[in-house]
Order: sequence, then structure tokens, then C-alpha cells
Amino acid sequence: MAASESKGGIGAHAAASADETSDFLKCPVCKREYTDPVILPCLHTYCRHCLASTLPQGDLGRALPFKCSVCKHEVIMPADKVEEGFKRNYYVEGVLNNKSPASGQRKCVVCEIVKKGGEVNDASSKCISCQDYLCSQCAVYHCATKLTRDHKILTFQQLGLAEYQKEIQANQAIPCATHTDQLLKYYCLPCQTPICRDCKALDHDDHKSLSLPAAFEVIKPKLLHKVEDLERRHDNENEKVARLTEMAAELEESKKKIQAIIHQRAEGLRKIVLFRENQLLEEIDNEACKQQAILAASRDHHHGNHTLLADVLQIIKNILQQGSPLEVLLLKPELSQRLDNLQDTSFDDSLPNQPQFKLKTSQEFETNLKTGMAFGKVEIDWEEVQVPMQPPPSPKLQAKAECILEFDSGCNFQTGISVSPDNEYVIVNENPGKLCIFTSQGKLKKEIVDISGTPLKNPIGICHLPNGTTVVTDIGNNAVMSLTSQWEQQQSLDIHSPQGVALNLNNHIAIAQHAEKCISIFSVDTEGLLTKTATIKENKSREIFAGPYSVAYMSTGDLVVGDLSQIQVHILSYAGEPKHAYTVLGPDNNKGQPYGVCADRYNNIFVADHNNHCIHVVSAEGNFVKYLVTRDDDLRHPWALAINHDGDLVVTQEEGKVKVFRYLEK
Ligand SMILES: [Zn+2]
Ligand SMILES: [Zn+2]
Ligand SMILES: [Zn+2]
Ligand SMILES: [Zn+2]
Ligand SMILES: [Zn+2]
Ligand SMILES: [Zn+2]
Repeated sequence: MAASESKGGIGAHAAASADETSDFLKCPVCKREYTDPVILPCLHTYCRHCLASTLPQGDLGRALPFKCSVCKHEVIMPADKVEEGFKRNYYVEGVLNNKSPASGQRKCVVCEIVKKGGEVNDASSKCISCQDYLCSQCAVYHCATKLTRDHKILTFQQLGLAEYQKEIQANQAIPCATHTDQLLKYYCLPCQTPICRDCKALDHDDHKSLSLPAAFEVIKPKLLHKVEDLERRHDNENEKVARLTEMAAELEESKKKIQAIIHQRAEGLRKIVLFRENQLLEEIDNEACKQQAILAASRDHHHGNHTLLADVLQIIKNILQQGSPLEVLLLKPELSQRLDNLQDTSFDDSLPNQPQFKLKTSQEFETNLKTGMAFGKVEIDWEEVQVPMQPPPSPKLQAKAECILEFDSGCNFQTGISVSPDNEYVIVNENPGKLCIFTSQGKLKKEIVDISGTPLKNPIGICHLPNGTTVVTDIGNNAVMSLTSQWEQQQSLDIHSPQGVALNLNNHIAIAQHAEKCISIFSVDTEGLLTKTATIKENKSREIFAGPYSVAYMSTGDLVVGDLSQIQVHILSYAGEPKHAYTVLGPDNNKGQPYGVCADRYNNIFVADHNNHCIHVVSAEGNFVKYLVTRDDDLRHPWALAINHDGDLVVTQEEGKVKVFRYLEK
């Protein structure tokens, strides 16, 4: 919507009314200028009747979700008064009211009353005190009449000029919805709503209220703060988009690089195979030659024998068959001699062995080739990518932190404190186990000793999710619980020796486990259910912690851990790599006890040093900055720390005191 692009405030009024075609004043349903504009929680605006016409009709009167047609944000339909349940968009109404009407569009209201049936003049000006449209003649009378003498009249031309907008706004009068004869004139701080004189007297009697301009001065900076945060988030999302584009390009490059290596490797392997193929062929060829020679030699030998025997046999058989008895007998000695001679000749009966070639292979090699062991396997190395939010430029720390609120909680072991989305202080008392909820002014609202029937034994740490879910650790029950905003149990998980707990911007929760010497990381889904995702315990096979107790996240995603056994505060990357360590020493150089740690939006780290009665300020790089509050400021045994919605530091002390310190220069 155009409004979100403009800078808001006075200039926007003028700009919007000057630009007749501005989409900003047009309903997304009827495409015409709004009539009775209402605003949805997503900040999109509709004519009331147009919105009603788009609502799911079947179940009017039930709190049903529907989607804003502009941004698809899910909105719950008000259960009663379907049409009336949505809030008027006072801003758009104001802009429309103060637009210069086209000439002839408005009639003079006085003429209409006075000249009944007669000629009614076109209005040319508007009384911004009583919101009446007047013709030039009646405007003169309006200023002269006693009752309306102080009224401020602007011509239609003046209505659109920026220089008059402040005055128009100052004269803006909106009646109370309950007391229709009264104008909204005050702002009730605890109820966070504009009220009228009657409201103030009847329903907000003991509530602190301010005049509208005074309240505006209080509220606007807070909203601007959030706008700044969101602007940085907006920039950050843009940086992430840029980074993701780079990542996609890097991925493509990495793919191509590895594909080239695969080709190269295959080519190399093919060369090896080809070489080996030729080598083996040659080898078998040589060996076959050798063996053939042996066989040939043997064959020649036996062939010689065969020829010899054939020859002798031929001769002897001839003589025996064809010779006369006398001839045979005369030659008998020679014949016998030769026969005996040949008989005695030892003929070699054994032939050379038959050579059988075979190829011995390794099945393993083929398996390895197929499974990738031999050739290679595509794997992915995961590289952590972070685009941290830029911290806002930090205001200076005050020379002396100023205690702006102090109250007694009645809790002697206030091991944890968290600021709820409603700006309440929720204090964890370890013994007796209970949660105590205080208003931002330190008034006790509620005490909780059991969660859905399970008594709290020794609760220690606490943190809040933006949706109101609370996470509490209980070392007595060895459990971490997530609770609804009604303090009902949503989930309870077993976890050994849980201590401090902290939430980061990515909805991950870190829990210190003292006895296990580790930090467990859980993801939290939208329902507030926890799933363990990682453990931070070792770095390069060495234990990082000895007795982790307190934890906090910085807006960069870095994790801060107070270790009671090492007397150190660790600063670790989001993935758990140790980056910096700070040794906790008090003003007298005594070893300290980091019972509480927290970080503000500027990444100042605070360490509650229990036995040195002081609060250290430590930089994001783990360097000592200063002692913010010390024993001299009457600080005693500080325990848990939190930053409240005003950006002040909240400290619990042993023996029941809670103190709020303002520490930044405004
Ligand atoms: Zn409409
Ligand atoms: Zn929307
Ligand atoms: Zn008139
Ligand atoms: Zn008037
Ligand atoms: Zn009222
Ligand atoms: Zn009130």
C-alpha cells in the first residue's frame, strides 16, 4: 500500500489529499474511495461493507480465520458483531475528511437548514472545529456568531495545504464510542487506549493517564524504535536475498568444478584401464609364446621318436615277413640288439603341463567402483552462512546507571527473570519453587506454584517467545516446560540439570546443563513445541565448559554463556564455536560468579557478578567495558538479568529486591 511507503504524519496527509488518484485512499474490493474504512491487523484497509461482503458467510458469529485479500495474512474474524468488530482506520478517515472536496461536491450545511427548500449554496470552506461545510456567506456569519466565534475555518484550497495540517490535527475530535457526548481526550497508559473524561472517571479511575499530546510524545519514540528495528530487519532480509543469490551462483560454480573433476578422474581412470589392458594383453602374449615354445620343443622331440620308431619297425617288420628263416636267424643278433636297445631307451611319458590362462580380478575393486569407493563419491560440505542483523548505532553508556524502579518481590532465590510480551516481569524463584508475575511498575499480579497440576520444584531459568509462550527450566523436576500465555503446560521434556535458558531471533532456545557441562539447543515451532537440534559441549575434542549456568543470545546470533566453575563468560558463534572468553573479576580483582548474563539490542553484554556485588559490561568481543553498578550503588548479590521493553536493565537480587537501571544516554 502506498501509505507504507510514505513517511507518515503530517506530510502524508497533505500528499495523500493532493494526489486524487492515490491508491492509498482506494478500497481493494470496490476500487473506489473508502467509505467507513476499517483496518485489519495486517494494516490493510477496506470499506466496512466491502470487507463484510468478503467474509466467510456460513458461520457468522464464530471466531473464524480468513485471509486478507491483499497480503493473504490470516485474520481472525471477531466472534461477535462481525462488521462492527473491526477497528475504524482513523487515519484514513481523517485524510478523507480533510480532503479538499471538488467544487460542487459539498453543499453548505447552514444554507440547508436556514433556506428550507430554497437555493442552497455550494460549500467553499470547512470549519475544522465543528467539521461543518460552509458557503462563503455562511462562513462569515459562523465567525461572527458568539457560539462559534473561536472556530477555525479553512477554505477548500487551504485544506489541502501542508501548512494547515497541524492545525487540522489539533482540532481533530473523535467522540468516545461508549460515551458518545464526550470526546477522546486522554490516553490511559496501562490500558493503552485513548479515553474520554467519563471513561477516566468511571473505568480508569486509578490508572495513570496522559493528555493526548503528552502520550503521543511517549508512544511515538517507542513505535519509531520498533520501526528502526524493522528497517534494519528489512535491510537484513535484503542482504539475505543478495547472499542467497550469491549462494546460488556459488552452488552452480561448485557443481561445475566437481563435474570437471569427475570428467578428469574418469579420463584418468580410463587411461589407467587402457594402459593396463595393453599391458595385460602383451603379458599374456609373451607368456603364450614362451609356453608355445615349450610345447613345440616337446612335440618335436616326440615327433623324432615317432619317426625313428617307424623307420626301425619298418625295417624289422620287412625282414621278419619277407626274409627266409636263415636270413632272419643270421641277422638275429643285430635285430635283437636293436630291439633291446630301443626297448631300453627311456621314452619320456610325461608331457608338459597344459597351460590354462585366466584373469585374476578383484571383485572388491568392481564393488568399490560401483559404490563409488574407488571412483569417488559426491558429498556435500555444509558451510554455515550468516547474515547478521546490523546492530543499531549504540547510544553511550551513562557514566552512572540510574535506578529508576525498585520493588520487593518477596522471592529470595530469584534465579530467573523474563519480560513478557505484555511488559510484565516474570520472576522465577528457585526455592520454594514458583513464578511471580509483576506489572512493569512492580505490582504483584499472580503467583504460580504448579503447572497444570505439576508442582514447580526448583525452577531456574525462564524466557519468553514473542507469541506469549513461556519456557521454564526446573532442575528439581529435571525438565524444561513450555507454557501457554495462560500458564498451562504445552510440553514437558526431560533434561538433566537444566539451568539458564535463552531465546534467539531464529526461535532457537539454548539451555545450560550444569552437570552435563553442555548447552542444549532446541528449536521451537509456532505451537511452542521444543525439539532438540544440537549440543554444544566440545571444540576440537576439548570440553568447552566446566559448569555452564547462565545463557543469553546476542542479536548477532552469538551465544553468551556464564560458567560458574571456570569463572568465565564464553562468547560462542551461533554454531557453537568458541570466539571469546571473558574472565569475571570484581573491582578488587576477586574471582566472580557470573550468575546472570544478558545482552541488549546494541550487543552490550551484562554480567551479574553475584559475590562481587556488581554488574560488568562486556563488549561483543569479550572485552571489559566497565562496572555498570557496584556495591557502592547498594547492589547486593545480583542474580538474574533482563532488558525490559524500555531498554532498561532489570536485575534481581538475592533476598527479594528487583531493580531497574537506566544505563544509556538518551
Ligand atoms: Zn470498498
Ligand atoms: Zn493485509
Ligand atoms: Zn451557506
Ligand atoms: Zn464551527
Ligand atoms: Zn468514554
Ligand atoms: Zn485504564
